[in-house]
Amino acid sequence: MSGLSKDSMSAGQDLLDFINASPTAYHAVIETRKRLKDSGYTELHEHDEWQLEAGGKYYTTRSDTALIAWHMGTQPAWETGIRLISAHSDSPGFRIKPNGAYTQAGYLQFGIEVYGGPLIASWTDRDLSIAGRVLVTNDGLIQAQPVWVRRPILRIAQLAIHLNRKVNEEGLVLNQQQHIPPIVALTDTGETIDSQSVIDNILSEELQVEPDRIVSWELELIDTQPGQVGGLNNEFIFSGRIDNLAMCHAQLTALQQIDKRPVATSMMVMFDNEEVGSNTAAGGASPFIRHVFQRVLESGQSPSHAFQRGLARSFCISADGAHAVHPNYVDYHDKQHRVQMNGGPVIKHSARERYATDGDSTAIFKTLCKDVSVPVQHYIHRTDLPCGSTIGPITATNLGIPVVDVGTAMLSMHSVRETCGTADSAMMIKVLQRFFEKETLWQV
Ligand SMILES: [Zn+2]
Repeated sequence: MSGLSKDSMSAGQDLLDFINASPTAYHAVIETRKRLKDSGYTELHEHDEWQLEAGGKYYTTRSDTALIAWHMGTQPAWETGIRLISAHSDSPGFRIKPNGAYTQAGYLQFGIEVYGGPLIASWTDRDLSIAGRVLVTNDGLIQAQPVWVRRPILRIAQLAIHLNRKVNEEGLVLNQQQHIPPIVALTDTGETIDSQSVIDNILSEELQVEPDRIVSWELELIDTQPGQVGGLNNEFIFSGRIDNLAMCHAQLTALQQIDKRPVATSMMVMFDNEEVGSNTAAGGASPFIRHVFQRVLESGQSPSHAFQRGLARSFCISADGAHAVHPNYVDYHDKQHRVQMNGGPVIKHSARERYATDGDSTAIFKTLCKDVSVPVQHYIHRTDLPCGSTIGPITATNLGIPVVDVGTAMLSMHSVRETCGTADSAMMIKVLQRFFEKETLWQV
């Protein structure tokens, strides 16, 4: 066992800073905009005309939860194609219902709905709070404001073992309607409340706006404990939302670190709603990426069919978490494809096309790793277990371009507190930066 290099530690720490600033997809987009602005990127809006210049750095957002940023190459984009990396900004968890507040048995509680596929038991007995965004009227105009209550005001309390004697043998079974609503406060038994105003008052206090200016909100449960480095030799990162903020951070950092003007146009996208199927305006199945591709590929003095010609030269790396081998459940992993944390990027394969990787895209990604002396691992799910999917196949279908599905190895995917390797961050960033900077990926 050895300690971690300075580069590995600082990339890991920067990943933690990114995650700790991003309790929800809204906040992840806010933090990403801030970092892009600091690196000289200009914000564009989809409803405006765009004047894109060679070497220019731009970004645009949709629904406040999806973002596309790109660095224009020195060559026209239709001539080189676009180098795209995609990741998702959302994580599984819980959303507060519109008339969420209610009282029961002397408690104030919030009704919640499950978002995606969280490991629900991991959310019990933790110091929880709420964050999201609030729509506020300002002289008749509606404005969105982010909100983040940092105090632990909520708890999903487990039943004591004395009232649930078989829980350790039979597992914790939670009915999503009945057993997971968190407690928020104590009330007088039988006290009636106005559900809307309870939540509006919390938000009004937090945002310092009058309650009657609050029109609507989108709120989710968050864990108040910040992520941190752990393990005997600092080899682990313990945090929520590693899936998929680790890859959002890696692609963003790679884009920011491009040190010379790239020949090809480099682009990153953070899509929302991957955890619920991607079929939304800000999700991977939306036309968002296609619209931006079209505007970039047809910018300047472009010839006929610049869009299609540019697509034919484009390539996508879809980056998302990969399942590290679990020492207590070794048999849950294919024997030949057990991947390790801090073992380098993982290429994910699936004959059922749950991942979009093929022979060509594997060859391109493996070569990038070799170029920068970073080890590479291969993952395949057990054949007799249903495999998860990513935005890789959706992007391949949407744009018709080659895609490789990759990620870094992690444990406890979809837990409120996941684990990944501290050193993997620096290795992934190095490979993604090489992807952006390499002059030719393959001979067309
Ligand atoms: Zn994911």
